[in-house]
Amino acid sequence: MAHILGRVTKPVVSERGPDAVYELRLPGEWLDQGASIEFELPRHLTCAACGGGGCDACGRSGALTVRSKDEPPEIVPVTLPQRQSHQGQSGLVLRIPECGGLPATCCDFPRGLLLLKVVPGETGAAPVRRIDRTHLAARRGPVRAHFRPSVHHAAIALLLLVALILAWCFGGR
Ligand SMILES: [Zn+2]
Repeated sequence: MAHILGRVTKPVVSERGPDAVYELRLPGEWLDQGASIEFELPRHLTCAACGGGGCDACGRSGALTVRSKDEPPEIVPVTLPQRQSHQGQSGLVLRIPECGGLPATCCDFPRGLLLLKVVPGETGAAPVRRIDRTHLAARRGPVRAHFRPSVHHAAIALLLLVALILAWCFGGR
């Protein structure tokens, strides 16, 4: 595993921030259904290069800090690939670009990858939730209200059209 990670990260390590690992536990059904979820990314993530042991990428700390204390929590939306029956009860690893460690302050590189380990189990304390249809419908609420004026405009336009037709009919006689 270590040599595979080394091979993957070595050529691109100077072009983006360090890669991070985060393990997320969620109900197995969500994996079976390929659910859309969102979760709060912790401020400190495990360094992917050393797995927490400490290396040059993480300044020997084993951890990567992705935001300062006063920054608001980062919510990451993810749609899980639907788990097939032959995959049994196993979890999976998703590679999410630009959600990993921050690049060095000198450089204008994107953030590293987030290797999200999705493990079936109790969600526990981790703030993770499904973004299901009802949730999306609730989000659409204000948008629907926003469209109301255009319905009025359509009704007014229709009335004007009827008035024009009537005027044309009566005018013609
Ligand atoms: Zn490290």
